[in-house]
Amino acid sequence: MSEKKQSSIMSQEMTKVISLCRRRGFIFQSSEIYGGLESCYDYGPLGVELKNNVKRFWWNAMVRDHENIVGLDAAILMHPRVWEASGHVEHFTDPMVDCKVCKHRFRSDMVEGDKCPDCGGQLTEARQFNLMFKTQMGAVTDDAYEVYLRPETAQGIYVNFLNILNSSRQKVPFGIAQIGKAFRNEITPRNFTFRTREFEQAEMQFFVKPGTDKEWFEYWKEQRMNWYYKLGIRKEKLAFHQHDKDELAHYAADAYDVQYEFSFGWKELEGIHNRTDYDLKKHQEFSKKNQSYFDDQTRERYIPYIIETSAGVDRTVLTILMDAYEEQQLEDDVRIVLHLSPAIAPYKAAIFPLVKRDGMPEMARKITDELKKRYMVFYDDGGAVGRRYRRQDEAGTPFCITVDSQSLEDQTVTIRDRDSMQQIRISVDQVAEWLNEKVTA
Ligand code: ATP
Repeated sequence: MSEKKQSSIMSQEMTKVISLCRRRGFIFQSSEIYGGLESCYDYGPLGVELKNNVKRFWWNAMVRDHENIVGLDAAILMHPRVWEASGHVEHFTDPMVDCKVCKHRFRSDMVEGDKCPDCGGQLTEARQFNLMFKTQMGAVTDDAYEVYLRPETAQGIYVNFLNILNSSRQKVPFGIAQIGKAFRNEITPRNFTFRTREFEQAEMQFFVKPGTDKEWFEYWKEQRMNWYYKLGIRKEKLAFHQHDKDELAHYAADAYDVQYEFSFGWKELEGIHNRTDYDLKKHQEFSKKNQSYFDDQTRERYIPYIIETSAGVDRTVLTILMDAYEEQQLEDDVRIVLHLSPAIAPYKAAIFPLVKRDGMPEMARKITDELKKRYMVFYDDGGAVGRRYRRQDEAGTPFCITVDSQSLEDQTVTIRDRDSMQQIRISVDQVAEWLNEKVTA
């Protein structure tokens, strides 16, 4: 089924997640008070914490855990020649069709037949449409100043290959990692933050000796799938999809997608590509700067092959939300709960005084002040405690710490587990250590 048709039955599940995101402050439509800007989204207080935690989780897994991977934060605007060398000016196009009746526009590979999926009208012939956003650089309107918003972060890494090689004492095999915004003028953005025009990528380009590329490709496939498992996403919802010959990009010798089973089908979260020496060769040709590497052990000179792991941060966040969402039928009620892994949950704990008197707020504040030195925590004294638990269930907060009248007598608190709703009672001075164990992935 086409993506269009699948998403026209915009699943109930997705509608519920979108509503939760808005209600709890995870994700809002951009410029909402002006009617919204299609396919652009803003991350609210909980969303930015979740997204930052996911980015940190990625950075730690790639840069901190691998001594031969270093980081980079390249500019979004790059020399226009970069996009000629990379092939984006020529090839970064999607086939587009318009409906002659309702004027709606579609990616032709996402519709079946020649009739408009919205109104049944006749569609035009397909035309190629370049997905890069153009803008002007400098005060003078002149073609020479036309630049693009980068459609991927990868090229910022390739053009810094020599800079990093010469400044960081890395030797092949080594990698460069980067998280940053990318922009694509998608013809049919849809499915909330799954396909947007402004999004964030987490990319790592690993430079290897030709001939060792297949081995490294296997290594990175395994590492990357394990990363999604560690995020707490259900294993049975994740799978690899290998690109067959006609799916392979012009630069790739082999490619696998990490896919997740959304309510609108199995979809790509990340691409793992063997890009060969295509990119560095192209930049060598266009820049006239030698991009080869000299191996001083074997006295060989070669252009490294590149194994790329290219993930979408927004898609990962959406996957985490969709995967974690549950409506639980309780005896007398339905509970909405986000089963986020404690390692990435926006708040690690919420702290409540059972009632707003008898010294309970003061004690709960003291615990909050202590915990907030290390974690994002949330103090809440508003409303019935049951309601406060439910608000934190929807926010994905794994633990709620409550100060009650017994706390004042024996310096203990209750800790309620989000998933099991079971409570334990522990001594106040053990809370920080207890929490630390639970949230350290
Ligand atoms: P698709 O086939 O879904 O358009 P792609 O194959 O063009 O994706 P890549 O160019 O390999 O994607 O980009 C790497 C990752 O960046 C994707 O796996 C995805 O997670 C993310 N990504 C790409 N385009 C978008 C977009 N428009 N919105 C959100 N994330 C995106």
